Parts: sequence; C-alpha cells; structure tokens
Amino acid sequence: MSNEVTRFRTGEDQQLAQRFAHRAELMQASEIRALFAVASRPEIVSLAGGMPNLSALPMEMMAEVVEKLIKENGQEALQYGSGQGHPKLREQICDVMALEGIRAHPDDIIVTTGSQQALDLISRIFINPGDVVLVEAPSYVGALGTFKQYEANVVHVQMDDNGMIPEALRAAIASVRKTGQEIKFLYLIPNYQNPAGVLLPAERRTEILEICAAEKIFIVEDNPYGLLGFDKPSPNAMRAQDSENVIYLGSFSKTIAPGFRVGWALVPQALKEKLVIAAESSILCPSNFTQLSISGYLADQPWRDQIASFCKLYKIRRDAMLESLDEYFPEGATWTKPHGGFYIWVTLPPEIDTTALMPKAIAAKVAYVPGTAFYADGFGSWSMRLAYCYPTPERIREGVKALGGVIRTEMENRSLI
Ligand code: PMP
Repeated sequence: MSNEVTRFRTGEDQQLAQRFAHRAELMQASEIRALFAVASRPEIVSLAGGMPNLSALPMEMMAEVVEKLIKENGQEALQYGSGQGHPKLREQICDVMALEGIRAHPDDIIVTTGSQQALDLISRIFINPGDVVLVEAPSYVGALGTFKQYEANVVHVQMDDNGMIPEALRAAIASVRKTGQEIKFLYLIPNYQNPAGVLLPAERRTEILEICAAEKIFIVEDNPYGLLGFDKPSPNAMRAQDSENVIYLGSFSKTIAPGFRVGWALVPQALKEKLVIAAESSILCPSNFTQLSISGYLADQPWRDQIASFCKLYKIRRDAMLESLDEYFPEGATWTKPHGGFYIWVTLPPEIDTTALMPKAIAAKVAYVPGTAFYADGFGSWSMRLAYCYPTPERIREGVKALGGVIRTEMENRSLI
C-alpha cells in the first residue's frame, strides 16, 4: 500500500504528468477539498463545508423506504435503467418543480448523478476552449472547477445584496462581445446563492431573462436551495417564465440527502437528445436504486413536512450565526443576511488576506473557506464564506467568537482598528 502511495512522487511524478491529457492539467483539487481534511478534525468548528445536516432526517423512515423497494421491486431497482432517468421519478420531479411555478413535461427532464453531473454534461456540450461563461461574482466553486476543466474563460458579473446586477450583466456582455469571444451561457444561482446567500428578486429575474433572450445567451439556473427559504417563499424559478432559454438544474441533495446523488436537468426540448447521449457515454444510466429510493420516499412519505423541518433546523443556525457575527466580529467587517440556504458571505477590509489568515483560524480551532475559492480570477482575497448548515448553534457561536477574535487581532496588528 505504501508503495502505491509513493510510487508517483518526485521525478516519476513529472514523467506521469507528461503522459496526461492537457485537460488533466486543469484538474486541480478545489481549495475546499484541501480544507476538508483539516476542518473535519473534531476539535475544529467547521464553518467551511456546506454539508447538509441530516440530523433532521428520520432514518427509520428512510430504512422503510429502501427495505420496501428491495423487497417489492428489487429486480428493477438493482438493474440498469434508462439513460434519461426513471420515468416515474421524472414525473414526480415535475411535482417538486411545480412548487416553484414550473410547468414541465417529464420528457424534458434528464436525471443526473447530482446536479454536479448536469454541470459537467452541459459544459461538455457547450464549451470550446476559450468560450466565455458568465457567472456571478462570487460563484459556486464546484461549477467554476468544471468550467475551468473545459477551458472556459469565466467572466464574473457584479452582484450586490440582491444578486446579479442586470446593468452589470449588460456591460459584461458588451465588453466580451467587443473582444469577439463567444458567450456560451450565463450560470446563475438565484436562490440563497452559494457562496453569498443572497436572493435574486423577481424583477431582476425578469430583467436578466429579457437581456439573455435578446442576446441569445442560455441561462443555466442552478437551484439546489430554492425550497430552503426561511422567512418567505422564494420567487418563482426563472424557468417558470422561460422554457426556451433556461436550462434548469435541480437536486435532492439538500431537500432529502446528498448520499443518493440524485439531481436533474430540465432542458429546452432541442437540447435533450445531446444531453442524454452525453450522460450515457459518461455513466450509461443513473442509478435505478437511488432514483427509486427517492421515488418511493416522494410517493409514501410526507416530504413537504420534511423540507419544512429542514428549514426550521437551518433557520435556527442562520439566526445563531447572524447574532454571533453581530456580537463578535469587529467593526469594518460586513456580511450578507440570507433568508434561506446554507451560507453567509463576509467582507473584510481589503488589507486582510483570508487565505493567509487561515492557519491562525485553524490554530483558534475554526475553519472557513477563503473568498478566492469562489472566483476564477484570483479576486476575493478579503472575503470568506461561512456555512451555518452543519454545526450545532452552540458550536456556531463558539466558532464565530474564535474567528472574530482572530480577525480583530489581525486588524489591530495592521492598525485597522
Ligand atoms: N450547485 C450548487 C450551487 C451547490 O451548492 C451544489 C452542492 N454544494 C451543487 C450544485 C452540487 O450538488 P449535487 O451534485 O449534490 O446535486
């Protein structure tokens, strides 16, 4: 085993690297993955990873669903299935999306191995090296990694506390077009954005849809958090207004459990065939076992109540984090105030480098994700993402207190306070 591990180190490493395809050079572990190892040590309060909190998921209920599936329908559940995804689940997914105003046909849905796979398939279909993908500033680290692997030129569009600014989008499109580069799509997380936690209001959704339709730019609407609103219902999905120009991505990772790895893409009809072929060449078909587990759960269990209990759990944690940020973070730090989802985005004075600060935070037994992880261009060095989804409220308070102390000391050392 130790031979295995050490085999490719040093000189041999380089030789192996020469044998890789060019795209493998672009595959790099995300900053978050590297952090997980440290952040998962029990003494560290991890405000880093966005792991769904499964403590509110009744495992007995899940066991019942899975047991029934295997006993009553094991032959199908453990068999290969359709490349597009199980027809019954695709119908049920339409009911889930109806909660956000979407009227869809099951034929236009492709079930994927988490929405992360949908991001990969869409990138594979659309991106030639050098093509532009527009994204929010900041944006989801997992999507940025995928776009980078397909050699996209990622262009960030400015946001404020209400998400992407339509005027900034117009300006970005004009400036990219001047260079002659092709814009392949706009990638957007309108609900409780990862990493900023902000919500795109209905008026901006309409304006952005209009801009993209006029400019013939597809919108990839990534919506894993839409049903996790705490304070009021989220506006309708963008796909509810436009079925021609929006590729909608959904996921059960946050509303049921990520271990099933079941997500989906709802695509304009003209794209479906290509996406199914791309999916088949990658995985043949999504897992019948996990799809039918989700399907059984949706059919037999009170899934809407379950989502409500997740919201309750996350709201308590959001409140704990906001309260302790108020209490423990020094003046000069600002942060977003999410109405749902998992994340808060903190902005510090520009002199503070949150990557360089990380070892001090770890020494104080708290972890976060430095802001640069959420930019393709190295920006974001004075910001950080804090996730409140996983720790207990007490641990959140403890972690925010420790982090506030680390930031305060750093600011004092730099005479910023
Ligand atoms: N999009 C966003 C915005 C996310 O936050 C995540 C998970 N953190 C994903 C996509 C991928 O989720 P999954 O593959 O589990 O559906």
